Amino acid sequence: MMYDYLIVGSGLYGSVLAHELTKAGKRCLIIEKRNHIGGNIYTREWEGIHIHQYGAHIFHTDNKLVWDYVNEFVEFNNYVNSPIANYNGELYNLPFNMNTFYQMWGAKTPDEAREIIEKQRKDNFTDEPKNLKEQAINLVGKDIFEKLIEGYTEKQWGRSCSELPAFIIKRLPVRFTFNNNYFNHPYQGIPKKGYTYLIEKLIENIDVKTNTDYLENRDYWNSQASKIIYTGPIDAFFDYKLGTLEYRKVRFDTQYLDIPNFQGNAVVNYTDKSTPYTRIIEHKHFNFGQQPKTVISYEYSEEWSLGDEPYYPINDTKNNELYRQYKALADTLPDVHIGGRLGEYRYYDMDKTVAAALSQVESMID
Ligand code: FAD
Ligand code: UDP
Repeated sequence: MMYDYLIVGSGLYGSVLAHELTKAGKRCLIIEKRNHIGGNIYTREWEGIHIHQYGAHIFHTDNKLVWDYVNEFVEFNNYVNSPIANYNGELYNLPFNMNTFYQMWGAKTPDEAREIIEKQRKDNFTDEPKNLKEQAINLVGKDIFEKLIEGYTEKQWGRSCSELPAFIIKRLPVRFTFNNNYFNHPYQGIPKKGYTYLIEKLIENIDVKTNTDYLENRDYWNSQASKIIYTGPIDAFFDYKLGTLEYRKVRFDTQYLDIPNFQGNAVVNYTDKSTPYTRIIEHKHFNFGQQPKTVISYEYSEEWSLGDEPYYPINDTKNNELYRQYKALADTLPDVHIGGRLGEYRYYDMDKTVAAALSQVESMID
């Protein structure tokens, strides 16, 4: 056999594994069905601007090991994500912080803001929030729920906030300081030369074939390596024999504009129900770009069906149970490892993806 490992998928997970296995002396081959490497973190360049082709990606972590690891390969800038919310033309800072409370109610001190939120909570309080709506109102009161959460969330998930699980909203920080940093993590930034460059560095000197779908010629590819690392959808690996795992899809309408600055910020969320898109990304602002032109992407959240690009897993009870059944099948195959965000059917941020790959590799090279 030519290779020790065949790695299916050149996303972040497969690329970190390929790098570490090669470093440990293993011969690796990566095959990728798309016409480019990088999976969903792929960035392409236009007029000096890095376009986040599959959606805005901001690297943020509290894991120093992971931060040091990615910084070994590329230099990161000091971008701090501070999205703006546009509700029917009214602008608010995110995440929910003293700037938002001032814009919403004119509250100038933490005490004033707490008092207003407290009153709105008391009027609507639910002891044990059973869904996202109840959880959100308990957390920030009715005004913020109605203007900044309800419309955005219903557009993003295609379901009413009273049918969605409470945990979705727990990701958003609420702060009584004037601090617009969307994340609480101590390390944050974006690779100065784009994410594709990070992948290129990771898989430097490793054999890669793009435009190559493993599932179309499985027997041939299996014959090329002793072990398989598969980072595509786990249900596809098993020909969907137990059923199909569901996702939410994102569609981008990207426009190239002959102006230097469209919206003055990388991310503007449209939180009302009537605007059909969820947000507009202006790519140059992720890297403090000064180019004379700009690129923007309108982001639409849509129903997914088999054959579409899978974006967000729907981790409800039904889908998680189906995943568990596929995982049990995968565990019976000693020479196959199925991992990454599609292989594990999990919403994995990039730092968690890197951490998972680094921990997996330990068991492979003992
Ligand atoms: P992928 O990038 O999906 O890689 C899998 C690869 O396998 C793909 O290239 C695919 O084409 C290939 N493949 C699949 N099947 C086959 C096959 N049969 N044959 C050959 N190749 C195959 N994380 C953050 O930390 N910060 C963010 O701001 C952030 N924003 C995000 C925004 C969106 C819209 C989404 C969906 C995710 C976001 N993430 C973010 C998460 C981030 O994208 C993931 O952590 C990361 O991409 C996971 O890498 P992966 O290698 O597991 O998967
Ligand atoms: N959210 C919201 N209003 C916003 C931004 C986010 O209500 O302006 C909610 C929404 O329910 C979303 C969740 O917070 O699903 C998590 O948002 P985040 O931006 O972390 O999600 P991502 O788009 O990165 O998955």
